[in-house]
Amino acid sequence: MNTPDDKPLVGVSACLLGQPVRYDGGHKYNAWIVEELATCCTLLPLCPETAIGLSVPREPIHLVGNPAHPNAVRICDGEGSFSADLENYGRHIAAEYLVLSGYIFKARSPSCSISNTPVHDSIGISVGESMGLFARALCKALPELPVVDESELLDPLQRKAFLRRIHAHHPQQQTEN
Ligand code: SF4
Repeated sequence: MNTPDDKPLVGVSACLLGQPVRYDGGHKYNAWIVEELATCCTLLPLCPETAIGLSVPREPIHLVGNPAHPNAVRICDGEGSFSADLENYGRHIAAEYLVLSGYIFKARSPSCSISNTPVHDSIGISVGESMGLFARALCKALPELPVVDESELLDPLQRKAFLRRIHAHHPQQQTEN
């Protein structure tokens, strides 16, 4: 399966495209993604937290427990385990969009980050870092997919490197799907 215009399909955390899906009703518009990357790629906006049924606005969630296997719970009361839903959604997207040529994740998100989300213990003390749970499940299901943290795209060299990886991956997608 190819995109209608045969451009590479790149998944993006929806808040980076200006969609007001964050816990506080805001967004994190990224001009380079929207105004430059979109000229050569088809962007697929995804917000795992709203996709699993959380509202906007909502109580923010964070990661707790063992950094190797953290749980996503509400910050305010430690309740509501969202881990299974976020991980299932990551596997679902990986299966649904085998044609993906890349993914840009929001940094430090308990759902979307690929490296640096803080993990806390039961009294709020930081005990380490983890990937966001949606991102972890998706990356595990699609280990060859080029992925990047939006903060890395501040560097022009990293942008070029990501674009090269997307376009190198894209022909494989056209052949395989
Ligand atoms: S879950 Fe991901 S896409 Fe949704 S608001 Fe949080 S960082 Fe953005």
